[in-house]
Amino acid sequence: MPATIEIGSATIHRIVEQEGPFFDAMQFFPTITRELLDENRGWLQPRFLDARDQLMLCIQSYVVRTAHHTIMIDTCVGNHKPRPTRSFWNMMNSDRYEKNLAASGLGVNDIDFVMCTHLHTDHVGWNTRLENGRWVPTFPKARYVFADRELSYWTERQKDDPTACPWVTDSVLPIVAANRVDIVKSAHAFNDLVTLIPTPGHTIDHYSVQVGKPGADAVITGDMIHSPLQARYPELGMMSDYDAGQAAKSRRQLFGRFCDTSTLMCTAHFPSPSTARVVRWQDAFDLIDV
Ligand SMILES: [Zn+2]
Repeated sequence: MPATIEIGSATIHRIVEQEGPFFDAMQFFPTITRELLDENRGWLQPRFLDARDQLMLCIQSYVVRTAHHTIMIDTCVGNHKPRPTRSFWNMMNSDRYEKNLAASGLGVNDIDFVMCTHLHTDHVGWNTRLENGRWVPTFPKARYVFADRELSYWTERQKDDPTACPWVTDSVLPIVAANRVDIVKSAHAFNDLVTLIPTPGHTIDHYSVQVGKPGADAVITGDMIHSPLQARYPELGMMSDYDAGQAAKSRRQLFGRFCDTSTLMCTAHFPSPSTARVVRWQDAFDLIDV
């Protein structure tokens, strides 16, 4: 199903690759206590948490269309990619993503820019596709926008231990080799409608993307939040955070800035429709349906 969001003069499409239960909540949030999970189960289930305490997550891209550009933000898991430590993402071979892209009226040639909020496996996959045994850019006309410290961190990691980050080998470095990367600061102002906001912590140089103008705007959050539980408890880190303390600060800062405004949060991983507004909740926040 195509899902379309209108923000002022811009249109945002969600391109879903997968949706369902993925990770055990107790493992996903290493510092959560059984008591805290029990206390919140009532509102989390069944939408955000299934009966076996697996988190209900969506894997998706957002495509922002303005009068001037068509920008894809994050590129999911991708096809034919070896992911030995994640069985549900290993060697995927699905036409769902491309079908959903087409259902939004878009083809790979329409994408002018690809922005990766960070360089984790479920945000870079469709950067490349397999052609005659080689990884080539999926979007033939696109420039790929990576944050400078994010790219150098993962390039270094890959050099030290390629088996620890196979997605860098097949979905990031081929884009660099093809000379298709625009390396930017994570506070880069792309134009008067699209601005990057640094939200570090989940990874070293993670960014979110603000779209629109005051009064009619949205923030594509990337992975600065994975579950609405982290709005109520911003200090709750997730298992692959680079710096969980910094990620907590980023959540408090971004949600503080947009609390009680009309700004739409477009999250990477909340189950559909994945969007919310920020309101105050105790000494923290809540992400509520629009
Ligand atoms: Zn993610």
